[in-house]
Amino acid sequence: MAADRRTVIENCAIATVDAADTEYTTGHLVLAGDRIESLGPGPAPEGLEHVARRIDATGHLMTPGLVNTHHHFYQWLTRGLATDHNLFDWLVVLYPTWARIDEAMVHAAAQGSLAMMARGGVTTAMDHHYVYPRGSGDLSGAIVTAARDMGVRLTLARGSMDRSEKDGGLPPDFAVETLDDALAATEETVRRHHDTAPGAMTQVAVAPCSPFSVSTELMRQGAELARRLGVRLHTHGSETVEEEKFCHELFGMGPTDYFESTGWLGDDVWMAHCVHMNDSDIAAFARTGTGVAHCPSSNARLAAGIARVPDMLAAGVPVGLGVDGTASNESGELHTELRNALLVNRLGPHREKALTARQALRLGTHGGARVLGRADEIGSLEPGKLADLVLWRMDTLAHASVADPVTALVFGAAAPVTASFVNGRQIVENNRLLTADEDAIARTTGAEARRLARMAGHA
Ligand SMILES: [Zn+2]
Repeated sequence: MAADRRTVIENCAIATVDAADTEYTTGHLVLAGDRIESLGPGPAPEGLEHVARRIDATGHLMTPGLVNTHHHFYQWLTRGLATDHNLFDWLVVLYPTWARIDEAMVHAAAQGSLAMMARGGVTTAMDHHYVYPRGSGDLSGAIVTAARDMGVRLTLARGSMDRSEKDGGLPPDFAVETLDDALAATEETVRRHHDTAPGAMTQVAVAPCSPFSVSTELMRQGAELARRLGVRLHTHGSETVEEEKFCHELFGMGPTDYFESTGWLGDDVWMAHCVHMNDSDIAAFARTGTGVAHCPSSNARLAAGIARVPDMLAAGVPVGLGVDGTASNESGELHTELRNALLVNRLGPHREKALTARQALRLGTHGGARVLGRADEIGSLEPGKLADLVLWRMDTLAHASVADPVTALVFGAAAPVTASFVNGRQIVENNRLLTADEDAIARTTGAEARRLARMAGHA
C-alpha cells in the first residue's frame, strides 16, 4: 500500500458521512491504490511522496459514491410503457414483453442502466434480475460483465419467479422457472460470481421476486440457500395495498408476518419499497435488522404510496435508496432520488420535520452500504475504506448561490459530476464516462429496445 502512487484531491468541501457526520468547509483527501489513505481539513500535508496526480477541486463538494440498493437493469429496454398504471396492472402489461429478453438485450440494458447511474455519481449498483426465459443465454454473466467492464461495483441479486397464474400468482405461466431450476441456477450464480474477498467488485444475493410471483417453498428454500452459502437475501415487500390484500387472501396474514414465517426477516435481508408498514411491521424490521431499499420515484410513478422512512429511521431500521427498474422510474438516476426522498417524505405525516438534506445524503451513501452489507468498506469517506467517491461541481449557475453545499446537492438541481472514483479508479470525468462510450450504448440500447418491441409484437 505504501508504495502505491497517490492521488491528492484538495480545496473542496467534504461531507464524509462518517458516524459523526464530519464535514470540512475546505479539505483534502489522499487516495492510494484502491483505498482512502487520509483526509482532513485544509490542504494536503506537504512532503507526501509518490504523488502521481494532484486535483484542485475548488468549487466542488466531495461525498462518498452513491450506493443504489434496488434496480432491474433489463427494464432499460421497456421505459415509457404502461405509464398510467398501478403496480399489478403495469406488471400484467409488461410481463409478456419481458419474457422475450435474451442475453444481448440484457447486456445492452445493463450497460444503459449502469452508464446512466455512473455518470450521476453511483459507484455501487445493484441489479435484481428475476426474468430468465428458457434458452435466453447467460443473463447473469451478461450483467456481471457489463458492470466489470464499466468499473462499477455491483451486487447482483439473482431473482426468480415460480408462482404463475395457474398457482394464483400474477405472472403468466411462460414467464416463470420451476422451483428446482430457480434454486439450482441461483446457487450456480453465487458460485460463479460472488466474490468474498475484501474490496470485492461483484457480490451476489439470493432474491426471489415477490410474494405474488414466488411460491412459499421458494421463499423458504431460497432463504436456506442464502444462509448456507453465506450471501444476502433480497426481495420486494409491502409495495402496494393490492399486495397486502393478496397476502391476506392467500396466506391469511400481512406481508411482514409472511416474511417472518418464511425466514425472511434478519440482518442479512433487505427489501425493496416497504410502503405499507404498520407500527408493528416497522418494529419487526428494527428488531431483526432487516433493511429497506426506499424507491420514492417508483413509488410515486406507480401510485404505490409513501414509505414511512422517518419512522423507520427513528426505530433504527437500516434504509438505503433505490432507483428501481427504469420501467417505473424512467430517469434511471439515483442522485435525483436524494431530492425525491426528501420531498416525498415531507408529504407524509411528519411534514417539514420528515427528513433533512444530510439524512437524505446518508440514505444514498452509508445507508445503502449498510443494507448491502458493505458498510465496513464503502458508504463513507474514512481512512482505510475503499476509494469510492464523487466530486460534485457546485460553482455553476445551478448551485453557486447556495451557501451550504449539502443543501445545494440535495435541494437543488442534479449537480454535475466532475469526477467519480470506484476502487481508486476514475470512471467519470466532466459528466462523461471514461470506461464506456455513452453514444454507442445509446445506439445499442435503442436498437435492442426496438428488437424487443418487434418480438413482443407491438412495433
Ligand atoms: Zn423493483
